[in-house]
Amino acid sequence: MSLLIVGTVAFDAVETPHGKVPRMLGGAATYAAVAAGYFTPVRLVSVVGEDYTAREHDIFRGRPIDTAGLERVPGPSFFWSGKYAPNMNDRTTLDTQLNCLATFDPKLPPHYRDSRYVFLANIAPALQLSVLKQLKKKPKLVGLDTMNYWMDSALEDLKAVLRHVDVLLVNDSEARQLSGHHNLIEAAAIIQRMGPRAIIIKRGEHGATLIRGRHVFVAPAMPLRRVTDPTGAGDSFAGGFMGAIAQSGKTDTAALSRAMIYGSVMGSFAVERFGLDRIRRLTRPQIRERARQFRHLTHFDL
Ligand code: AMP
Repeated sequence: MSLLIVGTVAFDAVETPHGKVPRMLGGAATYAAVAAGYFTPVRLVSVVGEDYTAREHDIFRGRPIDTAGLERVPGPSFFWSGKYAPNMNDRTTLDTQLNCLATFDPKLPPHYRDSRYVFLANIAPALQLSVLKQLKKKPKLVGLDTMNYWMDSALEDLKAVLRHVDVLLVNDSEARQLSGHHNLIEAAAIIQRMGPRAIIIKRGEHGATLIRGRHVFVAPAMPLRRVTDPTGAGDSFAGGFMGAIAQSGKTDTAALSRAMIYGSVMGSFAVERFGLDRIRRLTRPQIRERARQFRHLTHFDL
């Protein structure tokens, strides 16, 4: 089953304790699409500027990723720059330049309009809603990721799109900001009243928690010797999660919990190298093997 993904395709400048990359391909939709593409066909919706060339586009070639919905316009692409603290979990956004995103008005190619699985990756909430409105019928599952930038600048738009969302994926500080509550279980209960029946709270090296009604499932993060660059970990998690759901065709709690492990697998690969360097070179056996390692990590008998 195809997975429709809308989000940013961007250029990033990233500094971590392991090095500094002044310019590389990034973007929430880029990470999510590449990660999901190992599980299911993807239909990408985004916008890029003149600085996006065949070299960047190479990332999507040879994968089941349809780029008919990737619009090219004059001017520069979305640009983001961030710096990680020595603990690698805290990061500061140094710069966000919307550039071509500021005037983007997505038009879904006609063959995208029957998509049954939709991932609204990080991008302006008004654009996330516009994409949903263009679908022929209500999808089986809609996931949404967002960040503090949009909570600060477009909260009402975000609340409007949240009413149509099944699964919200956010990190712990974003869940606290959106709900106004520090306790994450309480925060999830408040967010559930805004629309999404399920919330996934990503906590970096501490793993991720799924809360759906009274059901709670916790996926650990892979204990890694070296984390090189956490950028895109959340988007890769979301791509693996949504890709596994679209592949299985199931949306019950057990399917969501299982998909959390594939999300954790893809997030754990993403952080091993800078940018997309690791997740662009994966094989399915490597993904299966790491999923098995996750099973060993958490298995015990009572
Ligand atoms: P993550 O580390 O998973 O939160 O995602 C990092 C990616 O999100 C980077 O590649 C950025 O280009 C992209 N990004 C950063 N800020 C925004 C924003 N405000 N809206 C959409 N995408 C963003």
